Amino acid sequence: MSPIQLLDPRLANQIAAGEVVERPASVVKELLENALDAGATQISVEVEQGGVRLIRVRDNGAGISQADLPLALSRHATSKITAVEDLEAIGSLGFRGEALAAISSVSRLTLTSNDGAEASGWQVMAEGRDMAPVVSPAAHPQGTTVEMRDLFFNTPARRRFLRTEKTEFNHLEEVFRRIALSEFDTAFRLMHNQKVVHQLPIAQEHAARSQRVGRLCGVAFMEQSVPVDIEHAGLRLHGWVGLPTFSRAQADLQHFYVNGRVIRDKVVNHAVRQAYRDVMYHGRHAAYVLFLELDPALVDVNVHPTKHEVRFREQRMVHDFLFRSLHRAVAELRPGEAPAPAV
Ligand code: ADP
Ligand code: MG
Repeated sequence: MSPIQLLDPRLANQIAAGEVVERPASVVKELLENALDAGATQISVEVEQGGVRLIRVRDNGAGISQADLPLALSRHATSKITAVEDLEAIGSLGFRGEALAAISSVSRLTLTSNDGAEASGWQVMAEGRDMAPVVSPAAHPQGTTVEMRDLFFNTPARRRFLRTEKTEFNHLEEVFRRIALSEFDTAFRLMHNQKVVHQLPIAQEHAARSQRVGRLCGVAFMEQSVPVDIEHAGLRLHGWVGLPTFSRAQADLQHFYVNGRVIRDKVVNHAVRQAYRDVMYHGRHAAYVLFLELDPALVDVNVHPTKHEVRFREQRMVHDFLFRSLHRAVAELRPGEAPAPAV
């Protein structure tokens, strides 16, 4: 065995990138989260060849200052948390300071931004992290554009795991759909190979929100679901639940958000399945778009690098609240069925 050596930062980033950047869809997820964290009200995503060749995300958010631009590409560099206490209650989607470093280590990345301090903006480029980032002036309105080209150009082993353009785009569109459902106060656009796939204006009123859900989840879901909004003991659950008659062969229309973050969670799945148990045929799956809001201190989002998983501090309480709320909502959809338990 050779002696122990510190990995060079580029290799360390590429190894870490394995956890964060699996495919084009993961890049879109991270870039959309960054745009939302920057407070953008307009976000456009342009992709080519399923996102492998190009992903360009442009926002009108807070922007990045000239001095911070090269830092944004460094690992463990974040503006979102500063102390360990901040981990106790994370209010932003990002906090690990990993995404841009990871993406730039496996692609050709250009970051152009304007934080509103000057009329023009600044740009920084990183190509597989071979070059030290150089900041140069560039025209850009307030906000940020991240352009990623040639994903995995320098990591052929990873590139081989990519699927067809269509499959990669489907994954990417699903990520876009999930995030566009999480933030109605932001307008989103998705273009693939120069064609507009989704164009979603800001949706403030309930009717406009329903319309966005219809566009992203299908008109049939909108017609066969009911809005819910239930609050109890500091927990709030709102969104749309599908009628039992709108059951699905696959669990492909289940969108659950905790404080605006797309999550997958066993406790949540179990509570929902139990709530639908009496009215759903065996092997069928419910459809829903649901938002749970609770004190950020009651949920730990620092469980996995992709931040898809959460840990509730009060699992039982969350489970019971979800079960009771949904059971009642589902029972009310079918008068004469099981009596509604009090929440
Ligand atoms: P994280 O989101 O976990 O902080 P990232 O690597 O995704 O880490 O981003 C690093 C930093 O770059 C962020 O903390 C933020 O300050 C800045 N940044 C990234 N994208 C944007 C954006 N679209 N608008 C403004 N700032 C951004
Ligand atoms: Mg981020």
